[in-house]
Amino acid sequence: MRIAMISEHASPLAALGGVDAGGQNAHVAELAGALAAAGHTLRVYTRRDDPGRPVVVPMADRVEVVHVPAGPAESLPKDQLLPYMGEFANWMADDWRDFAPEVAHAHFWMSGLAMVTAARRCDVPSVLTYHALGTVKKRHQGSADTSPAHRIGYERELGRVVDRVVVQCQDEVRELVLLGVPRSRTTLVPSGVNVSRFRKDGPVAPRSGRLRILSVGRLVPRKGFEDLIRALPEVPRAELVIVGGPQAALLERDPYAQRLLRLAKECHVEDRVQLVGAVAADRMPAWYRSADVVAATPWYEPFGLTPLEAMACGVPVVASAVGGLTDTVVDGVTGDLVAPQDPRGLSQALRRILGDDNRRLSYSAAAVDRAVHAYAWPQIAGRMSALYASAAGVPVADRRTPAVA
Ligand code: UDP
Repeated sequence: MRIAMISEHASPLAALGGVDAGGQNAHVAELAGALAAAGHTLRVYTRRDDPGRPVVVPMADRVEVVHVPAGPAESLPKDQLLPYMGEFANWMADDWRDFAPEVAHAHFWMSGLAMVTAARRCDVPSVLTYHALGTVKKRHQGSADTSPAHRIGYERELGRVVDRVVVQCQDEVRELVLLGVPRSRTTLVPSGVNVSRFRKDGPVAPRSGRLRILSVGRLVPRKGFEDLIRALPEVPRAELVIVGGPQAALLERDPYAQRLLRLAKECHVEDRVQLVGAVAADRMPAWYRSADVVAATPWYEPFGLTPLEAMACGVPVVASAVGGLTDTVVDGVTGDLVAPQDPRGLSQALRRILGDDNRRLSYSAAAVDRAVHAYAWPQIAGRMSALYASAAGVPVADRRTPAVA
């Protein structure tokens, strides 16, 4: 099939680890690559945020990234992009007259708005993956949530008008039903993991001699790094290594990185906490392999790639029992699930796993097995192709489209 993929703020070509560059970028890059490897042809549309970028950049055989001129050609926070989605949709609809996609798949709600406008004009079936939901963000972040007003209303409406909604975990099904999106419109296809890159054997990042707890993610409060630092005094002999955020040289100027280091001092564990900064995607497997346990302790998490990447590298995971992590991590089999925002419970789980070599070995084997058999990209791309084929078979009369912002 010819597939138009839309990821307005999250380019598959972006470096990961920054505030707005994480799982969605990795997901779109890997999904596009796996679909192309299965014989499909793709154009991935993302907003042009750098005047030096050519409009079309080849990413792999049969995959092109298209930088859509919409709004200023500079990097902007994603929460400021809504006003440019009409322009994005118009440009894309013109491009589709040549590309003639057989299906469009939008990632994130703003991409969804651009998609439904272009899809109506060009009569293309539409598929949406939310990646994150406004209702969940508002619940957890309250007044700190900078999402545009009406995000939740748009998300509800999109769920009713696109041809298919792809949900990534069971928890998202529940959230969407609460939002008012009928269960019958949703299909569960989780994200995948690249098991050729994330594997047990290979280079290992330097170790210090201490037991290593590794945590990976954008340096934002909801990732739960503060809970980990608060747990550390009760996990003797272990170090906490945090990967993600700005480049190492810029950590000094990052207010949240400094806050984490201050907290480590207050908890008297500053000699056991290390902030590494952003690590290039191809170096990530070596960091996972260097860990005795990976801790993924967000307050909430739409899917959560990092525990799955750790599992594929044969590293046991201690994870908060939230969102997608309750699907990927099998409690007591591939890792341990703990309550979110509970440093005491976290320290108990970490002490137990770090003190039990046999448990770590058995979790490691089960984790690799689960990653390879349930989440390898060729398999996930096969499920997505089947969904596209079914969306493309929907009669035109069954498709309704809302007005875009
Ligand atoms: N990542 C990376 N370098 C870093 C930090 C993170 O390549 O320094 C990658 C990580 O391997 C994963 C993604 O960024 O693929 C983070 O995805 P996740 O779903 O865990 O979190 P999100 O950023 O979407 O909230």
